[in-house]
Amino acid sequence: MTDSHYRGRFAPSPTGPLHFGSLVTAVASYLEARSHKGTWLVRIEDLDPLRESPEATQRILDSLDAHGLHSDEPVCFQSERHAHYHALIDRLLSQGLAYRCACSRKQLQENNGRHPEHCREGEAEPGERPFAVRFALHDERSTWHDQLLGPQSQTVHAELDDPVILRKEGFYAYQLAVVADDIDQGINHVVRGSDLLDMTAQQQQIYRSLGAPPPYWMHIPVILNAEGQKLSKQNHAPALDDRKAEDNLKQALAALGQDQRLLAGTSDIGTLLARAAANWAPERIHLTAR
Ligand code: GLU
Repeated sequence: MTDSHYRGRFAPSPTGPLHFGSLVTAVASYLEARSHKGTWLVRIEDLDPLRESPEATQRILDSLDAHGLHSDEPVCFQSERHAHYHALIDRLLSQGLAYRCACSRKQLQENNGRHPEHCREGEAEPGERPFAVRFALHDERSTWHDQLLGPQSQTVHAELDDPVILRKEGFYAYQLAVVADDIDQGINHVVRGSDLLDMTAQQQQIYRSLGAPPPYWMHIPVILNAEGQKLSKQNHAPALDDRKAEDNLKQALAALGQDQRLLAGTSDIGTLLARAAANWAPERIHLTAR
């Protein structure tokens, strides 16, 4: 395997069972990996025990299996990687790339996003108060080429946008964990929903601060419900019926704009996915739904 070998992943947060929107993302990342003869991994992003459950994790894994979407390597669980995140945060703190912050959301709002106690300069002594750790961004106009959306440009504001990487409650936060794991798992292509597009410039800075090049990004339109909202557990998106895996897959491929005629007469899920991969044409994804 060379460095340029394609490695992609699907990384759901187990806030609920898989719904149609998450299936579409899973299928897109799977087919993109397969069409590059690459490796496709599943990672469960179970960082927040207050919003996530082991039952949801199991249901997601069962659903993926029922839809023929099998991880090429053992499934990675973020809940088992705390020691690693802890070490990274210590490192970023000692390098001055992260800082402790006891500010409340209200305090930050009242100060237009600035830290009244100059947390970034390390002047605040959190002492006994609960504190978060934030990543210290630098001002940047970040540009890159999205594999589907084309040229992208985002501005990152130091201090105002600094993301929390360790929450006051003691939980590790998405922004650091996702980058740390993608680096460790050698992920070089990320296919995910365009609801995460706004995170990308910040994540690119985190990649570089950890000494790794950012991956290629492909952001696909999120699936909306009849009211125009993103399908999500919050919007009561129904769980997928695993007994209808074939129909679900065909609908996911239709939502991704793929040519349905090529799938006619296929009911075996493995054959369906192999055929979809052989004919995968991401340029057919309708961008209007974004
Ligand atoms: N865990 C994130 C989510 O479920 C996705 C992470 C990513 O693809 O970057 O929204």
